[in-house]
Amino acid sequence: MGRPFIFGTNFKMNQTPAESVTFYRELAARVTTRPHTQCYVIPPYTSLPAVSEIARDDDSQIWIGAQNMHWAPEGAYTGEISARILKALDVDLVLLGHAERRGLFYETDPDLNRKLLTAFDAGFRVLLAVGETADERHYRVSAETVSRQLKIDLHGIPAAHASHLIVAYEPVWSIGAGGTPASPGDVEPVAMLIRDVLAGLFGPAGRDVPVLYGGSVNPENAAAFTVLPDIDGLLVGRAGWTVEGFLATYEAALAGRDLAASRG
Ligand code: PEP
Repeated sequence: MGRPFIFGTNFKMNQTPAESVTFYRELAARVTTRPHTQCYVIPPYTSLPAVSEIARDDDSQIWIGAQNMHWAPEGAYTGEISARILKALDVDLVLLGHAERRGLFYETDPDLNRKLLTAFDAGFRVLLAVGETADERHYRVSAETVSRQLKIDLHGIPAAHASHLIVAYEPVWSIGAGGTPASPGDVEPVAMLIRDVLAGLFGPAGRDVPVLYGGSVNPENAAAFTVLPDIDGLLVGRAGWTVEGFLATYEAALAGRDLAASRG
């Protein structure tokens, strides 16, 4: 059947629980569900109990994600959240390796490897973000950086878990305020490389892992990424933080996907 189309947003350190609930309710009421297409929202931890409780009772089937997770089962890790805590909140997805976690909070690839092992053991889907910095791009080591991140982050993960993995290519220079979107010409070769690395790690199962793009995506440029044959969806930041913005970007992303399908 081919890889699913996956689209959603990470709220970062924005939204109170009440704001997340309002957003989620409106989005769930308005979003159109399509076969083989999956939407997700990743609110702050403090919104997860309320949002996942509503999600349990509606038909929109939007996945609810957490923005991070610690690798240890429990213990003296002030400020951290374990897999067991997230399990109790009915979370569908854990985002790991976001550029802000790597850059601002010094999360290393060996740390991420421990987190991925724990997350898969706990039965979560993992949305793993990878991408090179502006310096790495300048020195033309984007491919080496992304390969290294994937190989370390996914070290020792059995191929059986590949069906629970989604990879987002998010060049660090393209995300957040001050970022500039990558061009589709920047993205396609890296998406192909990601696919090759995943196939090297997991065999044929690696080719079925959805690869998303993220970085300054908006309704105007979304289709330019989703029309690419190796891009299976988007990880959106700012443009997805209003329901209008989420839906407009989603519709544009679907239009790109439809165009790609019509081209065969
Ligand atoms: C992000 O930070 O993951 C991201 C994609 O942000 P934005 O869309 O705001 O660039």
